[in-house]
Amino acid sequence: MADRTAGLLPEVQEFLTAGPLGGVIDGQTAVAADEHLLVTRDPGSGDVIAQFSGLQADDVDRAVRAAGRAFAESGWAKSAPAERAAALHRLADAMEARKEIVAQIEALDSGKLYPQAMGDVQNFVATMRYFADMAQHIQQRSVLAVARHEAWTSRHPWGPCGFIVPWNFPLLLVGWGIAPALAAGNTVVIKPAEDTPLSAIYLGRLAKEIGLPDGVINVVPGLGETAGAALADHPGLRRLSFTGSPEVGRQVAQACGRNLVPVKLELGGKGAAVVFEDTPLDDTVEKLVRAITFHTGQVCCDATRWLIQKPIYERFVEATVDRMSRVRVGYQLDRRSQMGPVVSQKQRERVLGYLQRGVQQGATLVLEGGVLQVPDRDGFYVKPALLAGSLDNVAAREEIFGPVAYLTPFEDEAEAVRLANDTDYGLANSVWTSDLNRAARVAESMVAGNSWINAHNLFPHGVPYGGINKSGMGGGVLSVQTLLDYWRSLSVVRPL
Ligand code: NAD
Repeated sequence: MADRTAGLLPEVQEFLTAGPLGGVIDGQTAVAADEHLLVTRDPGSGDVIAQFSGLQADDVDRAVRAAGRAFAESGWAKSAPAERAAALHRLADAMEARKEIVAQIEALDSGKLYPQAMGDVQNFVATMRYFADMAQHIQQRSVLAVARHEAWTSRHPWGPCGFIVPWNFPLLLVGWGIAPALAAGNTVVIKPAEDTPLSAIYLGRLAKEIGLPDGVINVVPGLGETAGAALADHPGLRRLSFTGSPEVGRQVAQACGRNLVPVKLELGGKGAAVVFEDTPLDDTVEKLVRAITFHTGQVCCDATRWLIQKPIYERFVEATVDRMSRVRVGYQLDRRSQMGPVVSQKQRERVLGYLQRGVQQGATLVLEGGVLQVPDRDGFYVKPALLAGSLDNVAAREEIFGPVAYLTPFEDEAEAVRLANDTDYGLANSVWTSDLNRAARVAESMVAGNSWINAHNLFPHGVPYGGINKSGMGGGVLSVQTLLDYWRSLSVVRPL
């Protein structure tokens, strides 16, 4: 391991090697009572980079209790939005000041390219600032005009909120989740994915360092079926937000349902890119190839079904094969790499398995994909791949979560809309055309949470982002509404 850490910042080396990492509960390092240790690997080399404590149900219980105590006693929930905003800006400042450190940790842990990891850390900072500022401008009390009564509604934080996050955007998604909850005065318990626990642990320590009251941010690393399940099933939570697969999302929602805990689910997707014949072809190919290779295709809202209008289909496929086969795959900390590894051997097998099953069901492999060897790095690399054919195929219907797009031709606008909407998911689609009237019409016809025009993967703060159907429920993230979700409403009335 020593030679592998040679290019890393001293702070990163120290963080990784100072001994097994624990969670953060009530401002203290938390290790599992049974000393259960897990490891996290560098997906680009396959090497173990750190050991961490896999917390158990009783540790999660301690964390939820600590969050409950901090909510009741620390003053966080009762402080003015402006005071909380000042604290959250301090957290954002500290994170920004350590950007290179956290980005290295994140890139190493998740396999994402270093510049993308830097972008994720900056996004976390921006999300904190966005909600901290917004919370100061939302009216906390609204007078109701009713006959012969004085009446008003007021907003109050709920209490301890749980957040279960996946491995593809470990820190960014923590930010999207906890920033509105904290700005509204709630306390949080974060369960990071077992493949990528490091940035959340770092955040938990940073919160202590900048003086957030103990118990306001708790971090419980561990396995999904133990720590995750214990958090989802905890009756002491007042809200839970889960980001991950629909399969686990269903279990989490059932557990929340049993406890009547309101739940937000941000789940998978099988988005379409609808490409009309009048689109600038080379530019569209470039942007779609960038989208599907961004974080090695491990992005919930990726366009994975590319619907191409017939007159340009052959030219589009040819240009895409050419562009996609030139993507430089390499180690995530190597600045020359344009695409890194997938997160784990399990994920690599999933991607390869879908390619195989897709072909068995009749799809054509127009760009082969498969395992890729990167010199001196025994990591989990795959080549980008393109399938083509009927959408009645497992690779066109299920989420692959890798750099694989599925191409199919369409005749006219009506057929394109029908094909795009023929899915169980409903997260995000894009439409590509020079005709902005048509663009708006098609974008509005999508049965999904998000439509993008002449672009894919857009998440400006202030635009609600979320899925419907198998892609999620509960209101989504990133908007004013998300902040409002983290306040409960109380009505007060007095006869006059
Ligand atoms: P996953 O569902 O396997 O795991 C997500 C989280 O849930 C992890 O922290 C995991 O430890 C935990 N978990 C696993 N089993 C659990 C259980 N029984 N109870 C409670 N928690 C449990 O998902 P993944 O493979 O980590 O992530 C990929 C999925 O996430 C894809 O489907 C992707 O589309 C989705 N995703 C959605 C969004 C969005 O915003 N809609 C964003 C990112 C990822």
